[in-house]
Amino acid sequence: MNNPPSAIALGGCGCLSTPPFIPRYILLAGDERRVKNGDSISPFLTNHVILIVDLTFPKMLIYEAKLKGTEDQYRLIDEMLRTGLFVRNKALRYWIDNPGVNGMDLNKYCKVLADNPEFPWVKKLNSMARQAMAERAWLAISRFFSNCQSKTCIKRSRNPSEKKGYPRFRKLQNRASIEYKTCGWKLSSDRRYITFTDGFKAGTFKLWGTRDLHFYQSKQIKRVRIVRKSDGYYAQFCLDYERKEKHNPTGKNLGIDVGLNHLYTDSEGKQIENPRFLRKAEKSLKKAQRKLSRTKKWSKNRSKARNRLGRKHLKVERQRKDFVVKLARALVQSSDLVAFEDLQVRNMVKNHHLAKSINDASWSMFRSWLEHFGKVFDVTVIAVPPHYTSQNCSQCHQIVKKSLSVRTHQCPHCGHIQDRDWNAAINILNKALSILSKISENTVGQTGINASGEIGQYLEKEIPPGKSTRRKRKSKEQSLESPAIFGTPN
Ligand SMILES: [Zn+2]
Repeated sequence: MNNPPSAIALGGCGCLSTPPFIPRYILLAGDERRVKNGDSISPFLTNHVILIVDLTFPKMLIYEAKLKGTEDQYRLIDEMLRTGLFVRNKALRYWIDNPGVNGMDLNKYCKVLADNPEFPWVKKLNSMARQAMAERAWLAISRFFSNCQSKTCIKRSRNPSEKKGYPRFRKLQNRASIEYKTCGWKLSSDRRYITFTDGFKAGTFKLWGTRDLHFYQSKQIKRVRIVRKSDGYYAQFCLDYERKEKHNPTGKNLGIDVGLNHLYTDSEGKQIENPRFLRKAEKSLKKAQRKLSRTKKWSKNRSKARNRLGRKHLKVERQRKDFVVKLARALVQSSDLVAFEDLQVRNMVKNHHLAKSINDASWSMFRSWLEHFGKVFDVTVIAVPPHYTSQNCSQCHQIVKKSLSVRTHQCPHCGHIQDRDWNAAINILNKALSILSKISENTVGQTGINASGEIGQYLEKEIPPGKSTRRKRKSKEQSLESPAIFGTPN
């Protein structure tokens, strides 16, 4: 962009564990206020600089390494994970029994638990790790509260009490994790071994991974997470480090339209196949699932079968991530502006016929990696409101109604003929460009360049903010409007 907009927006960080966005601070020339998702901010846009900051782990980088140790050490980690979950569930029980307690009270309650002689194992866990588990309980509680306020149902459960996501007790599953902050662990001087020093005395593990921790100061490591997956135990290091890489301007602005047949179509007409890893693995997953269900409960074979199934799922997950990360990186590197639709994937997944395909297309992951690389390379990545992107004609801007099965855009007004998704991608790019020019017109004080994330949705005047948008998208027609679903194009 020649004319940098002055609004800076930082979206989700795009790391391994980006929690759902929502609470953000909007800073208006020193004034700070919490804005609920969907609140309109456009009145302020006229003469203030707006800064949207994501509250969840800004500037965090996560490195993962496999932990190599003995069977006995792994059993100790299992103990630690079980204790962590115990603390979380106890904290939740405390909140249920004592209405009105807050996050701080739960933190204090950890100490009470640790001093309780009935549960000697709690004391063995590092105090900060205990608190981190209480924080998780509090996270579930506050998510429930904010769901109640925003009147949305996130759970697809049939039980109405769970519709709002009422926090539940967790049981220990294959996948589990525990989080240390700045103490309870120690890295060796060559950064190849990690020792856990709390009461469980799990000892020293070798770190297996491609990433070198040498580049970072140990005080940059803010959190260490132990994660159990189907294929072993991992340590994740959350580093306080902002990655920046040089971007050579390419002079290319791209709009992309995501779909099911093709992962995306860009405004130059290029299409990327959707690899559908889940569909491909489905046969073997089903087989593993059948084997699991034939085993006896609590038997050794059952846990083996469960593990085998888990590893297969893990493979699909990794394939997806690998594909999406590489694609997002290449896309950001090859252009100066990337625009995409601000789709509410969560609502679209509610359509059970398409849920699997939509999840398999991994749009949300693609999006958060796009935003991440946008920040790394200082490339503008912008989400635009998805309305009418596939109905408008990219040449004459008239609305041309068409159903989902119509794969080619044919304009009766100007005679323009183009592939449906290609046409949509051009519309998306045009929308993004008009939004960006509005921002640079409307703001004084040029401060930053990187407009990434969700500014777009608040800016278009014709879009009513908040609830009404949501309600609109619930209807089938609207929510399925943009992605390509039936048949193959052309
Ligand atoms: Zn036309």
